Amino acid sequence: MKTGNRLQKLRQRLAEKEIDAILISQPENRCYLSGFDGSSGYLLITPQNAILATDFRYTEQAKGQAPDFEIFQITNDIGTWFPELVAGFNLRRLGFEAGHITFAEYRQLTDILKQSQLRLIPVDGVVESLRAIKEAEEIELITKAVEITDSALGYVQDIIHAGMTEKEVAWEIEKFLRQNGSETIPFDIIVASGPNSALPHAKPSPRNIYSGEPIIIDIGARCGGYSSDLSRTICLGTPDDTFNKIYDVVLGAQLAAIAIVKEDMTGDEIDQVARTIIDQAGYGKAFGHALGHGIGLAPHEQPRLGSNSSEHLGDSMVFTIEPGIYITGWGGVRIEDILVMEGGKARVISNARKI
Ligand code: ZN
Repeated sequence: MKTGNRLQKLRQRLAEKEIDAILISQPENRCYLSGFDGSSGYLLITPQNAILATDFRYTEQAKGQAPDFEIFQITNDIGTWFPELVAGFNLRRLGFEAGHITFAEYRQLTDILKQSQLRLIPVDGVVESLRAIKEAEEIELITKAVEITDSALGYVQDIIHAGMTEKEVAWEIEKFLRQNGSETIPFDIIVASGPNSALPHAKPSPRNIYSGEPIIIDIGARCGGYSSDLSRTICLGTPDDTFNKIYDVVLGAQLAAIAIVKEDMTGDEIDQVARTIIDQAGYGKAFGHALGHGIGLAPHEQPRLGSNSSEHLGDSMVFTIEPGIYITGWGGVRIEDILVMEGGKARVISNARKI
């Protein structure tokens, strides 16, 4: 993975904030900037240097995955090795990831730095905003992951039948994803039937699936570290009137948002398009989550498509559009696709069939 460009952009942003260097601890940010996908480590990015601090378990892997970085082996907690890491850089303002570092780490750092000229500056969302704009190679990997979830959805629609439990269906999907190129399962698979589908993030249960009820299936695959995220709501046998009515509202809201979404809209504006349709149908209170989210190294990342989100949708952003309606005691409907912004307009990447 070429990370030079990413580091250059980060350094520009830091310079604008008059920050000399930044300590990166958030795992996806660490991987994005260095290429190192181990589960433990820190990056120190100064105007001239890029250092990856990790422990014995990962030093060999780090050398292979992060050739642009100097590897600094660490032991014990941050209080032990941090002074040596920053020694010699003459830093005055060091950014840290306020949304990620633990309180214990923060306390250790402030203790060490009491006598020093170095000041800790909380930074939020800088790397995340770089990650929101995808490079061609990243879009390719997401597209691969999307193709795997599309075929997994097709597969499950062929094999699912009344009497199977949610857990059995989820396991069939997991096997299919892994056998067809997904490196891992990026988030817990959701198979929620009947009343369980009223819980937007239900866990697959031993409940048997019946004909005529809503079944929400929400799945992701991972390729080269990049995730996909796809939801469909299906029904075995003949759906009842409630299902047909709610499904039409959700699908109508989703298609309207997909048709209208374009560059420069804010997350709030696009959310409002779908929310208004659901509201006018009388289900406003039953759509309790945001319309969508960015996707990449993390299954949920910037931009947020939801109420009060002032983030602007820009070229090469990849995000989901997934309205839902959830009725306690009956169930729910959610339909989710992934889109990429290209030349000012959004193109839907996912292709799984809808009812
Ligand atoms: Zn999603």
